[in-house]
Amino acid sequence: MRFLITGGAGFIGSHLTEHLLGLDHEVVVLDDLSTGSERNLAAVADDPRLRFVRGSVCDPEAIEGCMSGVGAIFHLAAAVGVFTILDKPLDSLRTNLHGTETVLEAARRHDVPILVASTSEVYGKNTASGLSEDDDRIVGSPLKSRWSYAEAKALDETLTYLYGVEHGMSTVIVRLFNTVGPRQTGRYGMVIPRFVEQGLAGEPITVFGDGQQIRCFCHVHDVVPALLALLEDKAGHGTVYNLGNSEEVTITELAQRVIKATGSTGGMVKIPYDQAYGAGFEDMQRRVPDCRKARERIGFRPSRDLDDIITAVIAERRTP
Ligand code: UDP
Repeated sequence: MRFLITGGAGFIGSHLTEHLLGLDHEVVVLDDLSTGSERNLAAVADDPRLRFVRGSVCDPEAIEGCMSGVGAIFHLAAAVGVFTILDKPLDSLRTNLHGTETVLEAARRHDVPILVASTSEVYGKNTASGLSEDDDRIVGSPLKSRWSYAEAKALDETLTYLYGVEHGMSTVIVRLFNTVGPRQTGRYGMVIPRFVEQGLAGEPITVFGDGQQIRCFCHVHDVVPALLALLEDKAGHGTVYNLGNSEEVTITELAQRVIKATGSTGGMVKIPYDQAYGAGFEDMQRRVPDCRKARERIGFRPSRDLDDIITAVIAERRTP
């Protein structure tokens, strides 16, 4: 089977590319290298079953040029990372809205199933312990950039769902909670690679806000096979699935664990949100998934815990 992966040179996309090639599939990667990198695909660059196309998901011709023989699409391309969204809010909005619609159109024209990656950001400030797919969204003003990302992704979900209903297409949506592992860069804000790099450099670890906010981190190697299982499970399409780990940790505790694992003597420093992100920033205080739906449907059960994740990210950063 030949798959198109938009954003296939990104962090999650490159792991998915390797996974599919390992199962003897063919992969076409469409990526504009805005946050992704060809380096992420270095291990498979010479694989004849991989084709890399540099282009944007907002460009219908670029997508069309990838579609020959494609049997299914993973749409992962998006503007990602809190820093990216705050730095380039308009570009981010365009990519996340227009890009998704353009890729959905290609899926419709070629009548192929599509998985669209969404995000736990859509739940916004809902702090329920165990967010499940039908839970309410609680988001702030659409004029605040952080929420425009959540708005765009929520609209992507609605578009994807309606393409399924109105065009009879096979579509599935996945809400990814914090996903971590080798190759994730801290440049766009993601906390674990940032903390590990700071720890290894012996610099103070930068905890934003009071550090009491809670997250759950899932290893990318647990997420990637689930993406394939959900795309292949056509009987389970037409809806949305959470994917994430439910092991809760406060950001302060995360910093302490990274300090211990890296042997850092740099300690930690608390930085107020307005200094970290600019005025008016609102953070999520608690984000914990309920993944029962994916467990019941495809047997999703992460097998790696937070220590495994921290260890893997440290090992990667220590490799020359
Ligand atoms: N964070 C932090 N220090 C950093 C980067 C992030 O304390 O150097 C915090 C951030 O404010 C948030 C949490 O870590 O509360 C997770 O941030 P990330 O951007 O990785 O993911 P998201 O906010 O989307 O959950």
